[in-house]
Formats: sequence, structure tokens, C-alpha cells
Amino acid sequence: MKLIALQEGRAFRCLGCKLDISWDAPGTTNRNHCPTCLTSKHVDDRMPGDRASACLGRMDAIAIASRDDGEWLVVHECRACLHLSTNRVAGDDNPLALLRIAVSGLPTASIAASLVGGAYTEKDKR
Ligand SMILES: [Zn+2]
Ligand SMILES: [Zn+2]
Repeated sequence: MKLIALQEGRAFRCLGCKLDISWDAPGTTNRNHCPTCLTSKHVDDRMPGDRASACLGRMDAIAIASRDDGEWLVVHECRACLHLSTNRVAGDDNPLALLRIAVSGLPTASIAASLVGGAYTEKDKR
């Protein structure tokens, strides 16, 4: 079944955990990262879902950011070209993987905050 999905372009093989992942994701129009390990592939150029990038490098989830409305975003960094992008969390993303990045990604929280225009509270500390 998975092989057929791959041939028809409805699935991709994750560059991180090597699982075959369907492009269809609950709660988002374009799945762009693996729900298990959150690894992505650099396929979009300017717009999410435009598939216009020729890079195709592996993108690691480096931080979690949250928007003003409380929605979580995964911040991905391309290993090949260091391109940064933010992506909406999908409904079936692994909550443990999200939490691990949210905790371990604290040093990069300022990058994530500047990307989404959020407030970074480090300067409030004395
Ligand atoms: Zn994966
Ligand atoms: Zn790239």
C-alpha cells in the first residue's frame, strides 16, 4: 500500500526516520514535515506548499514557536543552505517530539521569536 502511495506522489520518505509519510495531514493543507520525528525537506521556496525550491536538503526542527493566537509552529533549519522556515504543527504530530524540541530549543528561542514577531523575555530578567 505504501509503495503505491509513493509512486503516485501522495507520500514521501522521511529523511530523518526513513518512514513513508502521506502528504495528507489533518489540520493543515500542506504537510511539510514528518509527524514522527518532525524532520522536513527543503522543497518550498517563498510560499508554503509552492514546492519551488531546488535545494531538497534535509531540514531539522530546531525550535518551537507560538503565535499570538496560541498556535504552535515548528521552526525548521535546512542543513544544506541554512534556510529557516516556520511551519504549522499538524494534528497528528508526535507530541513528545514537539515537547522535546520546545525544551531543548531554548537557546534558539530568540531566533524563533524574531521569526514570528513574538516577544522574547530574556531582557526582562536582571
Ligand atoms: Zn521522520
Ligand atoms: Zn536548503
